[in-house]
Amino acid sequence: MAGRAALQWITPPCCLLCYDQPESRSGLCRDCWQKLPFIRDPQCLSCARALTHPGICGQCQQRPPVYDSAIAPLAYDNPVNEMLCALKYRQHLSFARPIAGVMVDAVVTQRQKRPDMLCAVPMTSRALRKRGLNQSIFIARFVSRGLGIPLCAALLKKIRHTDQQSALSAKNRQSNLDNAFACRRRLDGRHVALIDDILTTGATANEISKILKAAGAVRVDLWACARTARSSR
Ligand SMILES: [Zn+2]
Ligand SMILES: [Zn+2]
Repeated sequence: MAGRAALQWITPPCCLLCYDQPESRSGLCRDCWQKLPFIRDPQCLSCARALTHPGICGQCQQRPPVYDSAIAPLAYDNPVNEMLCALKYRQHLSFARPIAGVMVDAVVTQRQKRPDMLCAVPMTSRALRKRGLNQSIFIARFVSRGLGIPLCAALLKKIRHTDQQSALSAKNRQSNLDNAFACRRRLDGRHVALIDDILTTGATANEISKILKAAGAVRVDLWACARTARSSR
């Protein structure tokens, strides 16, 4: 028994995805890490949409988002969608490590300007009670630890329930988000990074960025793990 305990102590934990190879990076083995669906194309500096040339996409040139830049290093594809669903709905908390690990790597390699603090997309207290955890705050904790940037987990509050953005017409999307979020303190002169799990239309992040800037933030960056291919905002 003592020998088995000692073996567990010296053997590195196995990969969260294949359960076969030893962990190499943030919970994954080398192979599983390399097979993650990293977006290889250049990405729009404003909204992280994949482009054929580096720069800012046409949509952001016409109507720039309120946030100042966005990173989303992975495509929302296998196994990232499964990892996020397992974290979100089945409370497989260990998947927050590789998700945050990918984000930390992207922030470092893209030489993102270092924010003063991190915050995360909030949930209503009712939704939180139902689900049991806010996956964005959970991911943000690991990002905060990885980069040594403080996380202000209670900075934002979601005041009322909103419908799933994807189920709404373009016209109803904005009214769905109106007055849904609040910021609990002044942020005069601060640079904030907002953490979310998936970047789809960016409408929620845009609305929260408005709230953060109204509270005095001078710059808001959006750090998400994965981007869906959907292009409308
Ligand atoms: Zn593996
Ligand atoms: Zn763009």
